[in-house]
Parts: sequence; C-alpha cells; structure tokens
Amino acid sequence: MSIIADDNDFKAEKNIKSDMVKPESIEFDRNFENTIRPKSFESYIGQTALKETLKISVEAAKKRSQPLDHLLFYGPPGLGKTTLAGVIAEQMGVDIKITSAPALERPRDIIGILMSLKGGEILFIDEIHRLNKIAEEILYPAMEDFYLDMTTGKSQTVKTLRIPLPKFTLIGATTKAGALSGPLRDRFGIIHRLEFYGADELAQVVKRTAGILNIEITDEAANRIAKRSRGTPRIANRLVKRVSDYALVKYDGKITKDIADEALDILKIDNWGLDNTDRSLLKLIIEKYDGGPVGIETIAAALGEDARTIEDVCEPYLLQAGLLQRTPRGRKVSPAGYKHLGFKVQNLQQSLFE
Ligand code: ADP
Repeated sequence: MSIIADDNDFKAEKNIKSDMVKPESIEFDRNFENTIRPKSFESYIGQTALKETLKISVEAAKKRSQPLDHLLFYGPPGLGKTTLAGVIAEQMGVDIKITSAPALERPRDIIGILMSLKGGEILFIDEIHRLNKIAEEILYPAMEDFYLDMTTGKSQTVKTLRIPLPKFTLIGATTKAGALSGPLRDRFGIIHRLEFYGADELAQVVKRTAGILNIEITDEAANRIAKRSRGTPRIANRLVKRVSDYALVKYDGKITKDIADEALDILKIDNWGLDNTDRSLLKLIIEKYDGGPVGIETIAAALGEDARTIEDVCEPYLLQAGLLQRTPRGRKVSPAGYKHLGFKVQNLQQSLFE
C-alpha cells in the first residue's frame, strides 16, 4: 500500500475531535493505524453482508481477468473504508495507491497519479466529494473509457491529445454520499454504505488490536471499551492504546474491567461513548437554544469547532444513537438526549408536535 499524495491539513482535520480521538501526532497515528490494519476479509471484522458481496465481485473480476468495477464506499470516518480498499487490493493481488481529494487540487496532481497507474492497480481517493470540478472532469473519461484528454498549445493552435490509460479500479470513499456530484456518483459501478459496528464486533476489534500490540486484556474489559467506542473501530483502537498506557503507568499493564472503567472515566468518556465535545454540543442546544432546532453553523461557532467536523465526526453517532435529531430547521436534542445528560425533558410536548 503506498500513500502517494497526502495533505496533512486534511488528515489533521479528519482526526480532530476532542482529546479522546486526537492523535498524539499525525505521523504516529498513521503508523499506528497501518500496523493494526486488517489485510484480509477474514481479519476484517463485521460488515458481513458487504464483505460477502465484495468477495463475489472480487472472485468474478479475477475469473474474468478484469479489474474490479469502480467502487464507492460511504459512511462516517473510522469505519474501515480505507482498510477495506486495502483488503480488496490484497485479494485481487494488485497494488493500491492512496490519496485524498484535498491533495488533488491542481490538474497535474490527478493527471500525474492517473499516468503513474499500472494495469489492474487500485486508486483510492478519500473524501472524494471534495474533488474540484476540473479534477472530476479529468476523471470522467479515465473512469469510463480509460483515457485522458489533454489539451496542448494556445488559442488557434490548441490540440487535444487522447492518452490511453491502463485499466484500473477507482475506489472512492466519502463521509457524505449526498455531496458527490451526480455525474461522478453515476460512474461508480458499485456503491456501498458502511454501518456502525455492534458492541460484539468492536470487542473483537479491541481483542485483535490488543493481541497485535501484546497487550493483556480480559474479555470483560474488551466489552467495556467496545461499548464506549461509538460503533467505530478507529475509536476502539485508540481507546485500547490510551487505556493500555494508563494500565501500564498505574498498574502492571494488564487491562481488567475495573482498570478499563477507571481509565475511561478519566478520559471523560461516558457509558454511551460520548466525550466532552458531544456532551457540550447537546448541552449547548438544551441550555442556550431550548433544545433546538438550531443551525449547524450556530452550534459550531458557539462550540469553537469547525462545522464540517461536527457534521462528519460528532453528529452521525449522536443521530444514530437517537440523542440528536435533524430537522429541516436545524438540530434538536431528542428526549433520550435530555435524559442522558440528566436534564428534565421540558419541551417533550412541544417536540412531539414539531
Ligand atoms: P476510514 O477509511 O473509514 O476512515 P479506516 O479504514 O482508516 O477508516 O479504519 C480506521 C482504523 O480502524 C484502522 O486502523 C483499522 O485498523 C481499524 N478498522 C477499521 N475497520 C476494521 C474492521 N472491520 N476490522 C478491524 N479493524 C478495523
């Protein structure tokens, strides 16, 4: 797996969200993630239905000796989109080049990558909904018919060169499928959504990671960490690391249920996996906006966070957990959200009629 173009700001931004998910450093975080990334369908936990479909697509492509159709994965960050692209490359027996849309700002960035591809290779573009129009237009003929249209010369002497490309597979990943332009979305043969993981699956992720890092952990402790990981393997892995540090410094390194609880409390992660940012968000809406609805930009400004980070990182889990609701007029805290924060549901009557 090679990372051929990168954008540290983008990575940093993708990783920002409270102390719990904030990496020690971007480099450290990337190395850590790469060490524990599953490489096969067998070691890739959960997403069972999706894996079965993909296995069939991979087998069929191999039997036909053809590259796989272009694929689009969508879902919140940390659910395993990049990992899955790597698994597919491994199963196809081809190389993968990894980049992200914000790193493809200039036409020559995307042209350079496309021209460097070898037959059958996989090109993975993260946050593909952020591609600019010019890059998208360069991609269309490349995806559809495997060629590049290049113009040379100026005004009257302008010529279009058609450069053939080897057949490749584009795997796009996005946290927002709705933000993708129609023509780009239509060029993906297969579109899949990744789901949040169940507590049992996350407990397997926790145990697998602990095993790789030689960390001793009891089943009960793994379940505790899993339950507070917001359905997300990336968070489960980071918590394993943070709790293990705590167990090593304060005890003998082994993670037991009590030590896990103690460490998670110190990290201020509650029993629903919410951290300070999540709780501040809900509290803000309840206390300052009477439970909502309130617009995302207002929330972001009041919290001093980036609106996109809130939308991409905080919100999906709060919505899926039923603590927050999205309405045409903005975000509202649900009765469950009030209860979780220990507030009385004062405007329940009102919310039932909205
Ligand atoms: P995304 O691309 O969706 O943001 P990644 O693929 O980078 O997420 O996954 C984040 C981390 O979570 C990786 O380090 C990987 O090890 C772990 N991970 C993701 N999905 C799985 C899975 N299904 N099984 C085990 N670990 C996983």
